[in-house]
Amino acid sequence: MCRDARAADHKHKEMMYKILIVEDEEQIARFLELELMHEGYTTCKADNGRSGLETAQSGECDLVLLDVMLPELNGLEVLRRLRRTSNLPVIMLTARDAVMDKVSGLDAGADDYITKPFAIEELLARIRRALKKSSMADGAGTDGRSAYDVKEAAVLANGDGRVKLDKKQHIVTVDCNNVELTQREFAMLQTLLENMDIVLSRETLLDKVCGYDYVGETNIVDVYVRYLRSKIDDAFGIKLIQTVRGVGYVIRSH
Ligand code: CA
Repeated sequence: MCRDARAADHKHKEMMYKILIVEDEEQIARFLELELMHEGYTTCKADNGRSGLETAQSGECDLVLLDVMLPELNGLEVLRRLRRTSNLPVIMLTARDAVMDKVSGLDAGADDYITKPFAIEELLARIRRALKKSSMADGAGTDGRSAYDVKEAAVLANGDGRVKLDKKQHIVTVDCNNVELTQREFAMLQTLLENMDIVLSRETLLDKVCGYDYVGETNIVDVYVRYLRSKIDDAFGIKLIQTVRGVGYVIRSH
């Protein structure tokens, strides 16, 4: 299939998906609506928890973007009630400092979360991933492993398989040579490999690597990337971690 045909096919698939935006801040809701429509999704909106829950339960949407702080019924309560009857993919929109929201959201059955303010590219990638995961869970998927399987895999690898990370044994090898990494370097590499092809913002990496309660500068992420590059890229002549200017970092599968 030629590149154009594939792009059109990709677009066509996304057009079939309807995304529910539950967000009371009108500007954010409008921004999301425009970006999603631009990507070829159809959307609907709810500006409070109660109507958001009703629309989500109606079965007409494929995925929910769910803010936490909402009038009438907060996002976590919406999620808890929705999960009694539905596996609809839900991505929580949480505030940077709302540590408990993220933990509670995942405990309550959220598929993923993204921290405000977020890069739209990262959100779109997370939406694609959640939709793919859910279509595979429905038995509709045909290609490759789901994101869930990747997270469950004991050994992660980059696109060409030169870099391998064994989660259980806590070992990283490049071309079968052991590479000594600190806890945080290891956590950073693991996060990037688990989210292959998703550009992760510094905020997201900071959350995953330093913990939800870490208070400090996000440029610590750049420091860890530099350490990883000196131990892997420079030492073995690989271009592993790519910088996406103004967005964050990514390991690409190809
Ligand atoms: Ca809100």
